[in-house]
Amino acid sequence: MTAALTARRPALAAGLADALRRAVGGAWVLTDPDDLLLYAYDGSVDEALPDAVVFPDTCGQVQAVVRLALRHGVPVVARGAGTGLSGGAIARRGGIVVSTSRMNRILEVDPRNRRAVVEPGVVNADLSAHTRRFGFHYAPDPSSQKACTLGGNIATNAGGPHTLLYGVTTNHVLGVEFVTMDGRVVAASGLADSPGYDLPGLVCGSEGTFGIVTKAVVQLVHLPASVRTLLASFDDVDSCSAAVSGIVAAGIVPAAVEMMDQLAVHAIDQFVPRANLPVDAAAVLLLDVDGVPAELREQEAAIRDVLRANRARDIRAAQSAAERDLFWLGRKSAFGAMGRISPDYYVQDGVIPRTAIAPVLDEVRRISQAFEVPIANVFHAGDGNLHPLLLFDNRVHGALERVIEAGTAILQACVDVGGMLSGEHGIGMEKQAAMPLVFGPADLDAMRRAQRVFDPHGLFNPDKIFPAPAGCAEVDNLRRLAAPNGSAV
Ligand SMILES: Cc1cc2nc3c(=O)[nH]c(=O)nc-3n(C[C@H](O)[C@H](O)[C@H](O)COP(=O)(O)OP(=O)(O)OC[C@H]3O[C@@H](n4cnc5c(N)ncnc54)[C@H](O)[C@@H]3O)c2cc1C
Repeated sequence: MTAALTARRPALAAGLADALRRAVGGAWVLTDPDDLLLYAYDGSVDEALPDAVVFPDTCGQVQAVVRLALRHGVPVVARGAGTGLSGGAIARRGGIVVSTSRMNRILEVDPRNRRAVVEPGVVNADLSAHTRRFGFHYAPDPSSQKACTLGGNIATNAGGPHTLLYGVTTNHVLGVEFVTMDGRVVAASGLADSPGYDLPGLVCGSEGTFGIVTKAVVQLVHLPASVRTLLASFDDVDSCSAAVSGIVAAGIVPAAVEMMDQLAVHAIDQFVPRANLPVDAAAVLLLDVDGVPAELREQEAAIRDVLRANRARDIRAAQSAAERDLFWLGRKSAFGAMGRISPDYYVQDGVIPRTAIAPVLDEVRRISQAFEVPIANVFHAGDGNLHPLLLFDNRVHGALERVIEAGTAILQACVDVGGMLSGEHGIGMEKQAAMPLVFGPADLDAMRRAQRVFDPHGLFNPDKIFPAPAGCAEVDNLRRLAAPNGSAV
């Protein structure tokens, strides 16, 4: 247990824990510090202990929890699977974590209208597994899809390898139902094109700061008629990068274009040797094209031309669905595979124009040397969404601070070429300080005002996204007011 977790012991306002138990049932409220430890983390390097974790089963129970939180001036943090990579689900200021793990029902599948109605705790891959029998899948496919939830995907506007062709989460969310801080339920849209403000669009990417999503209507996509998967290896990273922009410049939009450098491939090979990735290549591209067979042949030929023009030394096509699955298993296991070569990793998530991939990867190499931090790269190249994995050992004093500094330097390099702070992982508590690099005071003010419409007290996931959280003082005040004898809770 680290000092950050032992420094602050949880303590709920008198009567709040009992009221929570009455609201959701005694078995579904955790307040024991040992139990709470499990909820102090997500997939990032941050940590903070909540005061309580509750597991509501219905929207009504979520409403009851939120109303209690407001009455006691206690922060509320929604939590899906906790796979987030920016500290989003961490209760930075303590308070109540609302886990959606019991709200995991697929309520309706409507193949004729290509829609499904789901609760927020449904695991991403489970929805596609369930709708396959109708000939459909849910297209956004984060590499964490076997664990992450649709609620978390909506809150972070998640992407994935195949969102290059199909679009990110917001392109697939037709409607959302969410609970606002006054305990009201807002149910927005549910049809592809509805009048009024695009509330589902606003909620997508709001990182749990607008409210708690309790239901969503999502779009389903037909399973592709056929798929071809190519694995291209290169002797240098620059040629591989040039091939990515070359493919898109040629007017081809593959379903997915993922890039892995040699260090990443080495780690994957130790973890999933069956994937049989080319360990001696400097960089590897994994590409999917999908559609009707006649179109595919044309697309594949055009892609092969671009790959060869950019000095691909080898192009392999998956010979079977099983081989294709193995290539993708390797790619999707990449983050976990880092455990084979390093005790810890810190992942960055900048987005850059595709044409800038080569110079920015050069800069990443330079930063790796300057900070003496090994960096593996495995990322959604087609989207220009970099994921440098900075490898370190958290037991070494100062190592975490060094990788965070190196990560910030990488972000700056992305911004310098006209890029963005996050492609899919969100800002959370990790990148708040960097927000002014790309947003001016008026931009941030507009975002904050939008947030305050749904949560005037700043109690939903406070101290996230915004650089100098106006919410802190208000939360402190509210908690002080709510606490017995005016002391902070
Ligand atoms: C190995 C690995 C690979 C990954 N690959 C990808 C990838 O390819 N693409 C990608 O986009 N991400 C990826 N991620 C990051 C992560 O999986 C996504 O951000 C995912 O969307 C988080 O879902 P979750 O259920 O784990 O959410 P959590 O981590 O629990 O929460 C994330 C955020 O969503 C909020 N939230 C959760 N549920 C709700 C709700 N019901 N209502 C309101 N707010 C809510 C939380 O408060 C928090 O701010 C990866 C992570 C790992 C560990």
